[in-house]
Amino acid sequence: MLLIKVALLLMGIRCQTAGCKNDSPPALAEQQLCVLHFTLSLESGCAEMRRETALGNTGHERQREIMRFITENGEKLARVATSGLHLTDDLKARILSTFLTLMNLRENLDRASMRSSYGRHPVSR
Ligand SMILES: [Zn+2]
Repeated sequence: MLLIKVALLLMGIRCQTAGCKNDSPPALAEQQLCVLHFTLSLESGCAEMRRETALGNTGHERQREIMRFITENGEKLARVATSGLHLTDDLKARILSTFLTLMNLRENLDRASMRSSYGRHPVSR
């Protein structure tokens, strides 16, 4: 299994998105996506989770899952961005805006979990 992974790394992996001809950088070998499609998949994942947390009834287990998603992908994105790949200005801007999306989702999650714990113990003003 490890050998296969190493071999794939050496050969360079194509982005798995239909119609995309870009290579997947080593930092994204697991995802098998190019930088562009990695950011796009993160954006859509975040949008979905944001809708989910906006409802305010996300369980603790799920909240932890989402937090893990944010930190893991944030780290991955940082690694891609600083690994010395040649990135166009467009792609750099996209990476930054994806970071912002991750940070906003994290903020949303904190707010939602505050709301839900206040909800259980209503504070009268
Ligand atoms: Zn792609």
